[in-house]
Amino acid sequence: MKQPYLLLTPGPLSTTPTVKEAMQIDYCTWDSDYRQVTETIREQILELAQANPDNYTTVLMQGSGTYGVEATIGTAVPRSGAVLLIAVNGAYGRRLTEIADYYDIQHVDVVFDEDQAVDPQVVAAALDEHPEITHFVTVHSETTTGLLNPIEALIPLMRERGIITMIDAMSSLGGVPISIDDLGCDYLISSANKCVQGVPGFAFIIAKKATLATTEGNARSLSLDLFAQWQAMTAQPGKWRFTSPTHVVHAFAQALIEMKAEGGVLPRYQRYAANQELLSNGMQGLGFDLVIDPAIQGPIITSFKYPSEHFDFDDFYQFIKERGFVIYPGKVSAIPSFRIGTIGDINTTDIKRLLAIISDYQALQH
Ligand SMILES: *Cc1c(COP(=O)(O)O)cnc(C)c1O
Repeated sequence: MKQPYLLLTPGPLSTTPTVKEAMQIDYCTWDSDYRQVTETIREQILELAQANPDNYTTVLMQGSGTYGVEATIGTAVPRSGAVLLIAVNGAYGRRLTEIADYYDIQHVDVVFDEDQAVDPQVVAAALDEHPEITHFVTVHSETTTGLLNPIEALIPLMRERGIITMIDAMSSLGGVPISIDDLGCDYLISSANKCVQGVPGFAFIIAKKATLATTEGNARSLSLDLFAQWQAMTAQPGKWRFTSPTHVVHAFAQALIEMKAEGGVLPRYQRYAANQELLSNGMQGLGFDLVIDPAIQGPIITSFKYPSEHFDFDDFYQFIKERGFVIYPGKVSAIPSFRIGTIGDINTTDIKRLLAIISDYQALQH
């Protein structure tokens, strides 16, 4: 089976043939072979995120990334006596507010424009105005635009005040260096099909054990009870509570081996950053303006403005797809734009090919 095109999207993304091959065997969830794979993954995720296993644990959760976010918010925030502060500057931040609404969690939203990073000073002012806040959540890499929010400045503000912290690091963990030990956040969430370069099927949550230990009975959902999932995985090491995506788990184990072979997070970050820089410069050279200031741009995905009112994204998309790449529509509400991802099994040779295709497209428009 030949892959017809490469995905220049922020997950699912293009995986290696060996990651795909790892899904060819059927495994039993109960068997010790499988449980050992789960345990190895849990340990390696802590390493990847520079989290000390004495203080942190990894809990795996079936479903897409949002299931992991929902499990975390729905378990971390108690049923009463809690107020959640949410810093929002894109669609994934808005999703956090939606989850809070579903769970009837009282929340204060600090909202920024989609092309602006979350400003720690504005967040600090909200904290002063709302001393009742007990929990905080925001997005690290806002995949709506590709910008990076300054979690290194935000988390200390919360810790000073004893506020429990949650980070949606879905599209950054593994692709942008993060040290959980330095950050000291309580929960950090990511999923199998982003920068670790596995396939979709589960999320994972790195949680401070002392914090997670206080959440028994908080969950309003049986299957998304993070505490219960942790207890089950600890009581019988490597055992998930309900059926887990065995093939996906094996693909992920292989993806972690390949991450190590690449040299870890830093070389991967450098590869993504090189892709992004080449793409950004090349596209600007072809007349596409950036949505995000390069000072806050991350290496994961880049948003470009439509070059003119007459720009036909569908036509552009099809032209590129027929020549081997799939790109992404825009998600910024106020600015007509599209996005191109630079993560996955992609390198600068691929980006050069893409730029040549886009250049050909433009030549045909005149
Ligand atoms: C991908 C992603 C998610 C999860 O989306 P799913 O479709 O549920 O996998 C959440 N937050 C961010 C920032 C993401 O990039």
